[in-house]
Amino acid sequence: MIEITEIEDFKKYKAMEGYFIITDMTGRRLLHWHRCADVDISHFRLKVKKNENSTGHYYFTDDLLEGLEYPKIKKCDNCRRFI
Ligand SMILES: [Zn+2]
Repeated sequence: MIEITEIEDFKKYKAMEGYFIITDMTGRRLLHWHRCADVDISHFRLKVKKNENSTGHYYFTDDLLEGLEYPKIKKCDNCRRFI
């Protein structure tokens, strides 16, 4: 699993088969299929670049089991049928 910190990397991983983990400041940790509409570059820009990760982090893995083992992870309701 890798943390995504650059916009170019976000674009690269969004196009790859795999899974995103997105954390937020409430402690929520959601697992998304890479093509989920909630995996959105404008959200990434705000959270990672503008807010400098103070409101959360983005991670990518191509290994579903690794994603599911992330502590306190939950599947996103909008893309869980693809996970
Ligand atoms: Zn999702």
